[in-house]
Amino acid sequence: MRRGRLFVISGPSGVGKSSLCRALLDRCPNLMLSVSCTTRPPRPGEEDGVDYHFLSREAFERLIAQGAFLEWAHVHGHLYGTRRADVERARNEGRDVLLEIDWQGAKQVLARMPDALWIFIVPPSLDTLRERLVRRGKDAPEVIARRIQAAQEELAHADEAHHRIVNDDFARALEELVSLICPERAAS
Ligand code: 5GP
Repeated sequence: MRRGRLFVISGPSGVGKSSLCRALLDRCPNLMLSVSCTTRPPRPGEEDGVDYHFLSREAFERLIAQGAFLEWAHVHGHLYGTRRADVERARNEGRDVLLEIDWQGAKQVLARMPDALWIFIVPPSLDTLRERLVRRGKDAPEVIARRIQAAQEELAHADEAHHRIVNDDFARALEELVSLICPERAAS
């Protein structure tokens, strides 16, 4: 059986990564999204085991000590990480795996699994990003301010990825992603 491929999607929060990834999963039937671990508390509507594995700091640190993470990082004041076993199992079963993680995690993945493809989603401008974060209405103003700063930091690493996709038009950005990840499903 063919070993599944590994795709890493990064980009600042508010850039539309999650919506693009959801749409991508609908288009590419062999692709699955890896569920990350985090110490961030769940937002309203988020489900444990579906959106994230929500862990205490102690539980997360235990997994670090056990070497269970393919990558992990501090993001926006919390710990986030991808369990190596989940990725290995899916790839060994022939499934393609999508990681939606930050640039620090992406670099660790590339160092450990150099066959991974890293795609970076960039906003048309920082102003558009600010508007999207405010409109999303999920976070308090000081959280948004912190995320804008983090976005600038994240964007500074866009050039290190294999591909950059500007999310100025959702449908077009999605087509670009599909043509990179499952070209057999791309619109002709
Ligand atoms: P949020 O808290 O909004 O769900 O995610 C914040 C950021 O954490 C996202 O932009 C995402 O890139 C990053 N992130 C989510 N899961 C992981 C992970 O497993 N590892 C790393 N390094 N970053 C992650």
